[in-house]
Amino acid sequence: MSVLRFALGNKGSLLDRVLQQGVINHARTKFRAVIFDMGGVVLPSPFPMTKEYELQKKIPPGTIWKTIKDYGDKGAWPKLEIGEINAEEFGQIFSEECTKIAGETVNVHDFLPYLEHGMKSPITEVLDAINCLRQEGYKTALLTNNWIQSDGKSLLPLSKDYFDVVIESAVVGVNKPKYPIYNLCLSQLNVKPEDTIFLDDMQPNLVAAKSLGIHTIKVEDVHVAINELEQQLNIPLTSTNKGTTPVRKEMQFDTRKFTEYLNNQLNMGLTHEPEVREFSHGQSNPTYLIDYGPSVTKMVLRKKPPGKLLPSAHAVEREYRIMKAVGNHGVKVPPLLALCEDSSIIGTPFYVMELVQGNIYKDPSLPGMTPESRKKVYREMVDTLCKIHRVDIDKAGISDYGKHGNYVERQVSIWTKQYQRSETHTIPSMNRLITWLPQHLPTNEVISVVHGDVRIDNFIFRREHPEVVATLDWELSTLGDPISDLAYSCIPHFLPTNFPIISGLKGVNLNELGIPTHEQILEMYCNEMQLPNIDNFDFYMAFSFFRVASILQGVYKRSKQGQASSDKAGVTGKLAEHMSDIGWSFASKEGFRLFNKTNPSIGSGTRNYSTHAANRDMKLPIHVSALPHSTQQLHSNLLQFMEDHVYPVEKSFSEYYSSENRWTPHPELEKLKAKAKSAGLWNLFLPHSDHGAGLCNVEYAYLCEVMGRCLYAPEIFNCSAPDTGNMEVLAEFGTEDQKQRWLKPLLDGEIRSCFAMTEPQVASSDATNIESSIDKDGDHLVLNGRKWWTSGAMDPRMEIIIFMGKNDKNAARHQQQSMVLVPADTPGVEIIRPLTVFGFDDAPVGHGEVVFNNVVVPKENMILEPGAGFRIAQARLGPGRIHHCMRLIGSAERSLDLMKERVKSRVTFGRPLVTRDTILRDIATSRIEIDQCRLLVLMTAHMMDVAGNKAAAKEIAMIKVAVPITVCRVIDRAMQAFGAAGLSGDFPLAGFYAWSRALRIADGPDAVHEAAIAKKELA
Ligand SMILES: Cc1cc2nc3c(=O)[nH]c(=O)nc-3n(C[C@H](O)[C@H](O)[C@H](O)COP(=O)(O)OP(=O)(O)OC[C@H]3O[C@@H](n4cnc5c(N)ncnc54)[C@H](O)[C@@H]3O)c2cc1C
Repeated sequence: MSVLRFALGNKGSLLDRVLQQGVINHARTKFRAVIFDMGGVVLPSPFPMTKEYELQKKIPPGTIWKTIKDYGDKGAWPKLEIGEINAEEFGQIFSEECTKIAGETVNVHDFLPYLEHGMKSPITEVLDAINCLRQEGYKTALLTNNWIQSDGKSLLPLSKDYFDVVIESAVVGVNKPKYPIYNLCLSQLNVKPEDTIFLDDMQPNLVAAKSLGIHTIKVEDVHVAINELEQQLNIPLTSTNKGTTPVRKEMQFDTRKFTEYLNNQLNMGLTHEPEVREFSHGQSNPTYLIDYGPSVTKMVLRKKPPGKLLPSAHAVEREYRIMKAVGNHGVKVPPLLALCEDSSIIGTPFYVMELVQGNIYKDPSLPGMTPESRKKVYREMVDTLCKIHRVDIDKAGISDYGKHGNYVERQVSIWTKQYQRSETHTIPSMNRLITWLPQHLPTNEVISVVHGDVRIDNFIFRREHPEVVATLDWELSTLGDPISDLAYSCIPHFLPTNFPIISGLKGVNLNELGIPTHEQILEMYCNEMQLPNIDNFDFYMAFSFFRVASILQGVYKRSKQGQASSDKAGVTGKLAEHMSDIGWSFASKEGFRLFNKTNPSIGSGTRNYSTHAANRDMKLPIHVSALPHSTQQLHSNLLQFMEDHVYPVEKSFSEYYSSENRWTPHPELEKLKAKAKSAGLWNLFLPHSDHGAGLCNVEYAYLCEVMGRCLYAPEIFNCSAPDTGNMEVLAEFGTEDQKQRWLKPLLDGEIRSCFAMTEPQVASSDATNIESSIDKDGDHLVLNGRKWWTSGAMDPRMEIIIFMGKNDKNAARHQQQSMVLVPADTPGVEIIRPLTVFGFDDAPVGHGEVVFNNVVVPKENMILEPGAGFRIAQARLGPGRIHHCMRLIGSAERSLDLMKERVKSRVTFGRPLVTRDTILRDIATSRIEIDQCRLLVLMTAHMMDVAGNKAAAKEIAMIKVAVPITVCRVIDRAMQAFGAAGLSGDFPLAGFYAWSRALRIADGPDAVHEAAIAKKELA
């Protein structure tokens, strides 16, 4: 990012310019000295800070100033000012005084530190004016009512070097508006009162000075006050050399040739070489102040840096072209003098423009201004932006200045690549934005000139009043989407005031200062451009922060390479994270806006079960009837299939899988699978894939619930874990060969698979602990390790294992792991034993303990690439959790159904169970809990569909915790209502319970997900 801060020449007649630059010698006025007050003149005013403080501390408004006024000379405030008490003593006494005035307890112990913090940075324009005064031979003094701080030093947060005389009330023991302090100042300055001008923001102080014969200027807005001072003294008080330094050796150029060029091109008749200074800020195109002396307008030269450059980089020709074009169409830019593309003159192409005088405001809070002026400054910024965006690119002859259309899409892609090239560590919000932004691109982009770096300090304002006289820094300009400029200009609103690089406005009372909020800026812009409100403005904000984060990450990487242990480098790295986190918060806001927009029932309090279907239109279908017709059809076919073919065999399956034959599949299973396949109820889980039903998560969720009503059902439809997750991995990351060899038979339901990650010897909740190894040996990989809880390992049809191990123990923590495909019959693979869950061995699938002893597989069996293990695991888990949760909700619904049936038919103590209050309450509670869970899962599935799996990470973790624990409770109530039968194998309840309990650990235990949720919540 170019950070150009230089003052350039203004438009207007030569005479105007000459006058402004003080070239004509003015008649010296009678004045000899200027006296400045501190707070509200050289430093920001304490008045707004006091109001802010009262607001924050919930002190009745106005209490503090009323206390100071009412107590007068007897109060703590003047005692503090004359150093009679220090800050600490003041806190105590002043709290008591304020308490009396307010009629309630008021604690103002931290009032002074609060003021000290807010008043620590001097107003640069005033310091600049003081420098000019001294250069012109005027004496300057600081005359302040200050105090002794708790560290024993007087409050003076600026250098004494700016002044010939410094009079501090706390040091001299007398304060304004008492005459002795003025007289002291005058005598130290050795001037008469009538030779002096005094600037203060408090009327009583001015009155006293005036009565001594001192000329006074009341400071409400420092810029206006400086302007008045300029008029009184008849000299300019803005340094033209501001922000410049002597030219560095490597940046010097041939000024003789340059002068010749100017004479040839502009016929300037220059007879000597100029004084040249370099603008000091770290801009990428070196920029110089050119001064040929009083009779020639000062100029600014901008050139390419020396050395070899990429053809498109540092294109000063482009800058010149765009400034010329927009300047001819109503946009204020510095008057351009010449473009020279001939490198033989000063070594590189360059251009020259006139220097514009004016104010550049570096601090967006515009210290020292009145609220009215601040409002005008921001209004001007927006108006100028509108002028830029209204330039007719055809008429201005710049329709080829950039590509047409898809600006934001191209930008997202450019900055994504740039970020990925400079990635040094994982920034989760950045990764989420990389997924989210392309999915939410604006669809109605218009094309206009885009400035590319709109910030308050890229405008020069007229000194007398806030009017833009030039727009600077066109280096990033192009043709594109104008709203991106507007959003970018609002970045400071979301950064803290002490943010490095760009000062922010966060936490500042904008209303009080007169600065428009970002919403008001948007409104001003829309009104001026006659646009309807920009609904997706938060998208543009997310994009703006993403772009800045990517730039900062680039800076970080470069600085890290240069100075690996520098603290500064570390700080820049953190800035990128901070920016991308803010970007993500806008993305989340925009996500919810879309979500709410498409689901008007949510949040409105209206119950709407017939919310219109089709999540592809971004609507959350909260009932089956709201699904697309084709999915409703699948749902009803599935229900029918369950009735016709699954429930009737459930008992027989249950008995079979408890018998000694249980390690072979039920003989009817293959027939049922064939029936399901021919009924089109097959591989329903693969979303948006060539291989499956092409359903999105929320559609499939409804089908999953149906399948979850019977533990044996998912396999019949080829939708059972762990095969579903493994198939997703192969579909997404597998090579063509891997797909052919393993995915195809899995999709056809001919073989089964398992996933071997968990290890008995380490806590595998933290998968970075796993110890199994993957070593390269020529064209082969050698695997060693012991795994357990490998679900599916016992199944005789299991032919392929996805093995997770470490291939590089020295890599970054989450890049040590890889996944490898291991055919089950590879020598060295040994299945030791089946594990049980509450005594259930889940035959024929089983959960195996498996040893891998020097297992050798071809290197082509690696999935994706070495080090990608975590990435793959993450991708595998999102949809899998929706599946598990919706199946559990199916189990809960079935349990509640069974319970309702049962309690109607059982009588105890003369009454059917269904009449008992406890039973009724249990039924009601279960209904509430099931519906709560379902909605949460559907919302999560919907977020995955509209915003992507990463965007829904928190919600995925939430359902993973909420659903198993809730479903356990629902099943538990059903079991209780059943009595002993509920725990038996005669009903599916015990099996459901064991599985839902297991799911509080399988796929990662609750605590791990809770920690992730809390982290995101607190982020
Ligand atoms: C039925 C079933 C099927 C499974 N199927 C598979 C499979 O197919 N493939 C596979 O690889 N694995 C499988 N697993 C294993 C499962 O993924 C692991 O058991 C799980 O990840 C936990 O690891 P662990 O058992 O090593 O527990 P540990 O890591 O030893 O953790 C023990 C306990 O510590 C607590 N804990 C952990 N982290 C935190 C934290 N950050 N804060 C607070 N407390 C914490 C939790 O309460 C946790 O339960 C299955 C497990 C079950 C029960």
